[in-house]
Amino acid sequence: MTVLSADIGGTNFRLGAVKEDGSIVKFEKIPTSSVFSSGSVLSDLENMLRTFSEGLSFDAIAIGFPATLNRERTQVVQAPNIPFMENVPVCEHLQKAFGVPVLAERDVAFALCYDAEKYHLPGKGIICGVYFGTGIGNAILIDGKPLTGRHGSAGELGHIPVPGCTISCGCGNIGCLEAVAGGKALARIQREKFPETPIGEMFARHWQEQALMEFIDGMAVAVATELNILDPDQMLLGGGVLSMKDFPRALLDEKIREHTRKPLPWRELNLIYAEDEADKSVVGGAIYARRKLNGRNKYEEDIAC
Ligand SMILES: [Zn+2]
Repeated sequence: MTVLSADIGGTNFRLGAVKEDGSIVKFEKIPTSSVFSSGSVLSDLENMLRTFSEGLSFDAIAIGFPATLNRERTQVVQAPNIPFMENVPVCEHLQKAFGVPVLAERDVAFALCYDAEKYHLPGKGIICGVYFGTGIGNAILIDGKPLTGRHGSAGELGHIPVPGCTISCGCGNIGCLEAVAGGKALARIQREKFPETPIGEMFARHWQEQALMEFIDGMAVAVATELNILDPDQMLLGGGVLSMKDFPRALLDEKIREHTRKPLPWRELNLIYAEDEADKSVVGGAIYARRKLNGRNKYEEDIAC
């Protein structure tokens, strides 16, 4: 089965045609601003996929969004970094346009599907992924199935409120964890405290200073919050922030352990650090689609995603 897989980002779209063995036969990165031009989000998405897939044959489409989707995973409800993408019935439209099954999910769930397979995590049980990128991405797989919650908005770890914090968050609330511990927060710290330092050098030059110690503590609070609520079988950490030059992983590890409930899950804590790879959501989308279309029983029984 070949899957046409799309990772819809706030800055770039990544598109790939992924074969059964996980190899990518064609890959493209397209600036988001160049795609949405006609005023119709659905037509723009369709045209982009049509142009990319010219001459290719594929059996399904997987499409990942940095967004809240409805529980049924058929509509994009709201995407904070793509403002005009609200209440968009993406699956129905693309299914009609291309005549193949279309599976939509949060981009971070696709990333976790990829990492779960790459790091050989078992399909059974609870697998959590926390990705520190622009914000704090979070996906939770329960027996291989992404946790959606009642409205589709489960796993919004970045929006845990921080007492006393008065910084506005992109979601409209004030004092979300993401406002103190995501990539955007790092950029704010750089602007306010270290304007002379390039963002890529922030940890290399300043990790022992208070502002960054607090930033890392915020990251640890995010991870420990999830550990203390879900007591997952596997906890995987990833995202661009962890891959920045001289990021103090040992300090993050120590602080996560400090905040994790004793004696358990602290005593048996095993954190998996995933490599940052730009096309993981594209390949992960294909893994997800293949597993899901292969049948629900198989999907739930013997898979890593
Ligand atoms: Zn928020």
